[in-house]
Amino acid sequence: MNSKTYTIANIGSIEVCKHHSTKKLTIKLKPGSIPKVVIPKLMTYEMGYRFALEKENWIVKHNKKLEERIPKTIFNEENGFETRFHKISIQTHLKNSIELKRYNDSITIYYPATSNIASTAVQEKIKNSITEVLRFEAKKHLIPRTFELAQKYNFTVNKIFVKNLKSRWGSCSAQNNINLNVHLMRLPEDLSDFIILHELCHTVHKNHGSHFHSLLNKLVGNEKELNKELKKYNTQL
Ligand SMILES: [Zn+2]
Repeated sequence: MNSKTYTIANIGSIEVCKHHSTKKLTIKLKPGSIPKVVIPKLMTYEMGYRFALEKENWIVKHNKKLEERIPKTIFNEENGFETRFHKISIQTHLKNSIELKRYNDSITIYYPATSNIASTAVQEKIKNSITEVLRFEAKKHLIPRTFELAQKYNFTVNKIFVKNLKSRWGSCSAQNNINLNVHLMRLPEDLSDFIILHELCHTVHKNHGSHFHSLLNKLVGNEKELNKELKKYNTQL
């Protein structure tokens, strides 16, 4: 990939990416993602890094503002949660543990009546339970779907794994093993297919060069539009 990762003390990781159509340095911030510095192709990564260093205070300040704007998801009895194949509801029980019970397409998460549902500990556990449901669905759905699309478009894929990835929707290794984020199950099917096809194209082209984009565009028709749509979703709950 045409990017390099650096670390800046007050920010953490930043990514410097080369972009062929840009003429100036820009900083891109997105809540939940690491800051990106986009630089013209002819500049060195080092120049992008130094630019980010100069703008360190600005990045810290605006990143904080963006993070504050993300609504902190509160899972509770009233809201519940819907995955592609399951309706999840939340209830208290008299036991001291968090438990999951499944009945057809309904899943109930039980939490101790003595604990506060808004507490970080309970919210984290509910989140983990929902992620487990997503993982279950992802294994059942995404893996066969990837093989199906590979066969349809003549890609050779090795192994497919579903993982709870922090900031990426998927990746493809040099050995053509594909990792897919379990949170793809929260996306509409066309966007989930789009990510799968993106990774399948990496079995042929290992970078994001023009050959990669023209192949992907041939398969999905409107990569730009789909990428724009994808920006509305977060890789984490
Ligand atoms: Zn890629």
